Amino acid sequence: MFGKNKKESFIVYTAGAAVLKEIARPVTVVSDEIRQLASDMLKAMRVFNGIGLAAPQYGKSLRMVVFDVPAENSTGTPGEEYLLPKMPLTVINPEIVARSEQLIKREEGCLSVPDIFAPVTRPATVVFRAQTLDGEFFEFECGGLLGRCIQHELDHLDGFLFTDRLAPEDERVIRGDLNRLKSIGQSCNYRRISKK
Ligand code: ZN
Repeated sequence: MFGKNKKESFIVYTAGAAVLKEIARPVTVVSDEIRQLASDMLKAMRVFNGIGLAAPQYGKSLRMVVFDVPAENSTGTPGEEYLLPKMPLTVINPEIVARSEQLIKREEGCLSVPDIFAPVTRPATVVFRAQTLDGEFFEFECGGLLGRCIQHELDHLDGFLFTDRLAPEDERVIRGDLNRLKSIGQSCNYRRISKK
């Protein structure tokens, strides 16, 4: 994908990259190429120590996400009970079909926004609908870290970073670091490259 001699290099795009601002396209066919992309994204997520990675972060504007959310600290929602034992999990064309009225503020980070963390207020639980690579559709209420991670990753499919979701007083705290990250990114096409 990035040239034969770089087969085991993994790239994650960082804040400032155009691909992170796009509305990603649905996956229409689970081709060999899509399966390979899923496998590469899972490896990249591990190399960079993430618990979720959306295809746009990997430079592909497609509605596809990989998760590896740890099973501990489940809050017991049906989605956590069903999906956490299946990790790592690849989903295509995921959607949030409902959001709880209850909101929770929780710290987030992102492989595309390295070394910057800030609290984001989001619904405590969401109803998550998606399809696996094997064609299984599922729909579950998901809370806890999984529910949070789903909301964060699906934002990537619509061109949003968690830094776009901050309260003004929290945004102010990280603004300098974020601007520095974007300006440093110009010299490397907004990419982090790791080999393993
Ligand atoms: Zn992210």
